[in-house]
Amino acid sequence: MARAESMEDPLGEVVRLVANEMVAEVCSIYLLRAGEVLELFATQGLNPSAVHRTRLRVGEGLVGDIAAHNRPLSLADAQAHPQYAYRPETGEEIYHSLAGVPIVRAGRVLGVLVVQNRTRRHYDEEEIETLQTIAMVLAELIAAGHFVSPNEVQQVDGLGLLPLRVDGVQLTPGVAIGHAVLHEPRISIQKVVAEDAGQELKRFEEAAHGVREDVDRMLEAHDMQSGEQREILETFRMFVDDRGWLERIREAIGSGLTAEAGVQRSFDDVRARLGQSTDPYIRERLSDLQDLTNRVLLRLAGRAVADPASLPDDMIIIARDMGPAELLDYDRTRLRGLVLEEGSAMSHVAIVARALDIPVVGRAPDVLSRVEPGDSIVVDGDNAQVLVRPADDILQTIHAAIEARDERRRKYMALRDLPSATRDQARISLNMNAGLLIDMQHLDETGADGVGLYRTEIPFMVRSEFPDVDAQTWLYSRVLDVADGRPVTFRTLDVGGDKVLPYVGAFGDDNPAMGWRAIRIGLDRPAMLRRQLRALIQGASGRPLSVMFPMIAEVSELLSARRLLDLELERAKRRGQPVPERLRVGVMFEVPALAWQLDSLLPHVDFISVGTNDLLQFLYAADRGNTRLAGRYDSLSPPLLRLLHFVVEKVRPAGVELSVCGEMAGRPVEALALLAIGVRALSMSPGAIGPVKAMIRSLDLNEATGFMNAALTQPDRPMRETLRLFAADHSIEI
Ligand code: PEP
Ligand code: MG
Repeated sequence: MARAESMEDPLGEVVRLVANEMVAEVCSIYLLRAGEVLELFATQGLNPSAVHRTRLRVGEGLVGDIAAHNRPLSLADAQAHPQYAYRPETGEEIYHSLAGVPIVRAGRVLGVLVVQNRTRRHYDEEEIETLQTIAMVLAELIAAGHFVSPNEVQQVDGLGLLPLRVDGVQLTPGVAIGHAVLHEPRISIQKVVAEDAGQELKRFEEAAHGVREDVDRMLEAHDMQSGEQREILETFRMFVDDRGWLERIREAIGSGLTAEAGVQRSFDDVRARLGQSTDPYIRERLSDLQDLTNRVLLRLAGRAVADPASLPDDMIIIARDMGPAELLDYDRTRLRGLVLEEGSAMSHVAIVARALDIPVVGRAPDVLSRVEPGDSIVVDGDNAQVLVRPADDILQTIHAAIEARDERRRKYMALRDLPSATRDQARISLNMNAGLLIDMQHLDETGADGVGLYRTEIPFMVRSEFPDVDAQTWLYSRVLDVADGRPVTFRTLDVGGDKVLPYVGAFGDDNPAMGWRAIRIGLDRPAMLRRQLRALIQGASGRPLSVMFPMIAEVSELLSARRLLDLELERAKRRGQPVPERLRVGVMFEVPALAWQLDSLLPHVDFISVGTNDLLQFLYAADRGNTRLAGRYDSLSPPLLRLLHFVVEKVRPAGVELSVCGEMAGRPVEALALLAIGVRALSMSPGAIGPVKAMIRSLDLNEATGFMNAALTQPDRPMRETLRLFAADHSIEI
């Protein structure tokens, strides 16, 4: 290092030294470049031509992961890690183990130092410490600016014009490129005290009337027919007519304030009372009310909501938070994406954005103060990040990624009408999961056979009160209308735990996932479950109906739920209402205990759907929402596959349908494993259907089954890698 200044290729020298000393076949150095990209700068062992060509975004691949989390990583089997991103130009496929440390200076990651070996070796603590020491020295060398100009990666704050990445959470998926529009509808109130209260009242009434008309126009818009969006706007519309709200403002104006000050005061009062609440429902109401307040203030100021002429053609809206109507104020044909400092996936604006099919990143800290109007922006919903003023080469990469994605979409679209069958003619039932009426449009787009899991709880969660039977009936009936004869499996309410209904309240369970949730609530509050079952029967109105009960842990729970269903069927008959032409009843298999009750369960069900999301968490005692455990237990691990294999073998002779509807069903490698152990029906998010169908159509199921049977009887082996190799050898598209 001391000689570094005089060396021609100091980084090259370092990687050679480290590789020799540590007996590693590969040593590489990646350095951070503008736009949060890690570029391969030096390597011993990987293809030299990959230097300056291989680039990974921070957070991408294992190298990106080390940089993103600023922590070392040591893996005996790196390729089995879910973050592993293969870069063919490096020729790294022959190296199995990997250890890497971030190169850090003053708390900032400047790059990553990595070693790799062919064998699956464990790197001990001492070796990691050695790498960290070398990284420290490297950090000084890099900070001196010999390789990357310090300006290029300087941390930006305030109004700097250098690239910047802001991490948030995904509210809706997808990637978009565009130019920033700062959503700042706030109007500063100039005059607080009024001279003529009567005049102010008149101004207020006119403004409120105008807002009411605006919302009505939105409701009439031809594409606002879908249930949830309409409902959200109607709730919003009700606010405008809310007597309490109107009265409060009138009183304030009556006490001598201007119309503007009265409207703002009324909102400030509510915010002061409720602003600290973490209750998602209350937060939602507050943002509706903020939206409404802003709208009235704009009207009072005589300003249009947004001046379209001055806005770019590819708008990325940046806001603290937003109401649903505010988003719809923007010209939809020019709207590309949305970034919020607050927000949640269930927030009304996110639901509307999903219907418009634009990506949204939420909880992006301080983004309003870090972006200038007109800045070029990438909203990367898939990776929950926002790139501000990205460098040209990054933009090109993202354009290419969007194109590749569109290309893949086109390819999957082409598969839409082709049969979902393997090369050896095994027919696989491919279904999609849905939770909102707007999701149903994907049935046609994807060519799915039906809806394998309709999660009914989402509409319950966005409402302000428990939906009555009529509202539920309307929704289920619409779902079946859109399905147009294709089967839909409705799952009864799976609330409780983390899915809190605002009007039921939190239960304070210490261990919510294993607490009072799903069917347990349904059986303890039978009136609630019966109302839902009644609505399902009425919604079906004589059409076939499939009902699935969640979280069944004992056969008796199914029998009790079934009794409630029978009571509702009898009620319908007594009243001369049509009963379903064909009724199918099934359970979710999510609680491992059910595996040992199959003999007594099977005579009572028409189908079983495996919810691997919950099953995996209960099997491994690992909270599915805990990010520290994410990826720790592989869904392709032999214990889970053996359990599922056991279930398949038990269920098949009974003639009961078995499908898998957890997330794993939508990942091609996992789906391959499921088919190979005998599963013949899968249900997944709509976006996964194309890739899984491509896998199915390239698969010889007989071969895969033989391979899997052999693999599962052997002592535990890394299934993910084994299956990947099998797929590569047999040209299976995964
Ligand atoms: C599951 O548990 O796998 C499942 C599909 O249900 P949810 O994700 O809604 O709990
Ligand atoms: Mg579940």
